[in-house]
Amino acid sequence: MSTDVTEVRYCKICSLKSTHPGVVIAGDGVCNLCKLDVAGEMLAAYRYTSATYDEFLKAPPHPEAEFDCMLMYSGGKDSTFMLDKFVNTYRKRVLAYTFDVPFESVHAARNIDLAREKIAATFMLDRADDDIRRVMRAVFNRPQPDAPGKYLDEKLPCVSCRTFFVIRAIIKAYQEKIPYILICADPQQILTMESNVRQVVRSFCSVFGVSFATDLLGEVVEEILFAEQERLPKIVFPFIDLRHSYDPDTIVADLKAKGLYQSSPMETHCTLFPLLNYYSFRHFDCMFYKLNAASHQRAVRRNGAGARATFSIKFPDSLRLAEVEDRMKDAILALAAGEGDPAAHQKTLEGVFNDLGVDGEGARFVAGNFLNMRSLAQDLGVVLE
Ligand SMILES: [Zn+2]
Repeated sequence: MSTDVTEVRYCKICSLKSTHPGVVIAGDGVCNLCKLDVAGEMLAAYRYTSATYDEFLKAPPHPEAEFDCMLMYSGGKDSTFMLDKFVNTYRKRVLAYTFDVPFESVHAARNIDLAREKIAATFMLDRADDDIRRVMRAVFNRPQPDAPGKYLDEKLPCVSCRTFFVIRAIIKAYQEKIPYILICADPQQILTMESNVRQVVRSFCSVFGVSFATDLLGEVVEEILFAEQERLPKIVFPFIDLRHSYDPDTIVADLKAKGLYQSSPMETHCTLFPLLNYYSFRHFDCMFYKLNAASHQRAVRRNGAGARATFSIKFPDSLRLAEVEDRMKDAILALAAGEGDPAAHQKTLEGVFNDLGVDGEGARFVAGNFLNMRSLAQDLGVVLE
């Protein structure tokens, strides 16, 4: 926790703290993310990702395979946009794979219904409530992680949930001999995501252990760890094609015009959001969306008002990030400990979410979920320290 850190410094451009996983602030007060110290690495990743994307576009239909690709389909704007594009523009035979995450709001279901009516893909709905709850229990109840941690360590619960169902999709694609898996990560997320399926499986095993992984996902996990490269599906990140022009508003407008989308302020809302924030504050002294908000601040400082971050979540240009984060932290840690007046915490958090750009009703709803944090934890089997 921050109490034993002598001096926490803030990047003067993006407000990331010197204690943030993977962040180093130089003598001039600017962090490594703002200086793009990782530029070389990023370029190499982009090159591989672009080449794989081109290969996928040109690949002729395999005469014996039923599908040209599997698309990870959440019902959100990004994956709906790409599903429409590959079915209707590129005429690919797509298996749209949806994992029913039990922690997510039902708003996406409406968009999935619209897509089913209007897009000629094959839709598959997968679920594994008990198994995903086991994964979340394991990650939240891990002992205190090593500080300062690596880049994205504060998002381990979220990353673990996604990795779990991506592996279920990989197994399905592997067994059905589907050559490509499309993941509709936004351009910023692409940089931080693993593009090799064997590495995806390996990283899950290194966090949770091979026996836990095979117990959850079957012996096929070990088969994939040792399979020949040509037998494994390749991961494609289609938003690599829009990395210079990615614009969430244009995507939403395009989908609405086609009757494929109904937006909701809570569309990507995860009911574990309070616990995700608890985890990131408790272990890494930052709010869950800190990197996203910092990316926005960076864009505003560089390009002025109206600038776009490379993440798909938007924040107000005038956001005073460090100050908002402090208020949020106090309320969340008090709620986790069962201390203070719940109504006062609710009011504080509503103000926090207003400042983060969530409107009145949405802010009330999200803040209200934080008041149930202790019963949420108990229900999942998570111990709040
Ligand atoms: Zn910075």
